[in-house]
Amino acid sequence: MSDSDARRYIVRTYGCQMNEHDSERISGLLEADGLVRADAEADADVVVLNTCCIRENADNKLYGNLGHLKTWKAKKDGRQIVVSGCLAQKDQDDVARRAGHVDVVMGTHNVHRAAELLDEATRAEAPITEILEAAVIDDHAMFPSALPVRREHSYNAWVTIQIGCDNNCAFCIVPAVRGAEISRPFADVVAEAEQLAAAGVTEVTLLGQNVNSYGRDLQLAARRAGDESAKLRPLFSDLLRDVGAVDGIRRVRFTSPHPKDMRPDTFAAMAETPAVCEHLHYPLQSGSDRVLALMHRGYSAERYLERLSQAREAIDDLAVSTDIIVGFPGETDDDFADTLDVAAAAEFDSAYTFIFSPRPGTEAAGMEADFVDPQVAGERFQRLRVVVERSALRKHEARLGRIEEVLVEGPSKRDPGVVTGRTRQNKLVHFTPPRPLRTGSYATVRVTRAAPHYLAGDFVEIVSEPTHKLRIPVAAG
Ligand code: SF4
Repeated sequence: MSDSDARRYIVRTYGCQMNEHDSERISGLLEADGLVRADAEADADVVVLNTCCIRENADNKLYGNLGHLKTWKAKKDGRQIVVSGCLAQKDQDDVARRAGHVDVVMGTHNVHRAAELLDEATRAEAPITEILEAAVIDDHAMFPSALPVRREHSYNAWVTIQIGCDNNCAFCIVPAVRGAEISRPFADVVAEAEQLAAAGVTEVTLLGQNVNSYGRDLQLAARRAGDESAKLRPLFSDLLRDVGAVDGIRRVRFTSPHPKDMRPDTFAAMAETPAVCEHLHYPLQSGSDRVLALMHRGYSAERYLERLSQAREAIDDLAVSTDIIVGFPGETDDDFADTLDVAAAAEFDSAYTFIFSPRPGTEAAGMEADFVDPQVAGERFQRLRVVVERSALRKHEARLGRIEEVLVEGPSKRDPGVVTGRTRQNKLVHFTPPRPLRTGSYATVRVTRAAPHYLAGDFVEIVSEPTHKLRIPVAAG
């Protein structure tokens, strides 16, 4: 069958990197089943909505999109709609009930079944809802990267090291929709990095909800099986060192660590492994101990700052980004003042700041009596932004005149003549090269301008050209 006869699919992704990587798996599975990617919904036979329930009004947006897709589906015979991801996991049968024209509803634990479920729905000529409550104990089923993948960028790749989360942050739905923490076997992670490097990938991002606790479950399982030598579990730091040692991998990143599990051995591995980038995403969430306790975060502001200074001592030229929630239920003016103080003391390079909004199904959503007035939360948000932007600008100004190595991401969104790259510290740098540079090239740039959210500079030279193919199919197994 030629590509022109093949059925076409499109995947719309909402939410986090874990979801984006799941979308790559879904795409890989559909392509392994003979489907071809469509550029637009109008050309597609299958639309997959890979949903997220973290964002505000996620439900309304999903059902709004599904309303629009009902018209799309009616325009051509054989069109199918798949709803996957966290919102599907949470809402389960509700999706089929509220949108009967959806063909397949699947949860976060059965992404590996995407192609099969679509085939089953076609054969049965009826909608299917399949939500598994927990991950299937089968490596291919569990770990996104162990399935065929259609990589969205071919010079960099996400590598899943862990799924689920054992914590219970009061604002977060992840433990409910992604289940308990399960670590991927160490050798499999390294083998995938090797495979990727052989295909020309030079940057990998290790992905997990709480990467520092990587291996805890592997150790427990080995001990239960009577292996006493398993008391030294493979640590996240070991993984950083081994992935960093893979020939061809020039940059290793990771997301997200949890401050309560951050350990000096991770800082040492970052400092001693040249490929591991000097960037730490270190989610603060609040600077008030009282609010941190309400959130069940498991650390105090003092502990957070202490570990941050250990990290900075250990790792030269470390950039630090964070997440902060403003207006968590019960947050008082004093609590917020603590957050401002900690944010100022931490001197972040950048921060993702959010105004709290309740996510159905989370503990915090039930704390209505303590919700902060939206206007107050909005004012606090602006004040926090000023503090974060002040330190971000200071950090960026300190880089003026330096020559930075950037990994080219492509033309800038605003001006196609300008190229955007990313430094090891994860800073965006805009510059104008004398000739077009391929995405995935490494170049050096002299920094000439600093703004709170980016740098700009003059092209110096190309360091290396990319070797990746345009698309990297990763075979299962
Ligand atoms: S650590 Fe907390 S915020 Fe992160 S995924 Fe787990 S429960 Fe959610």
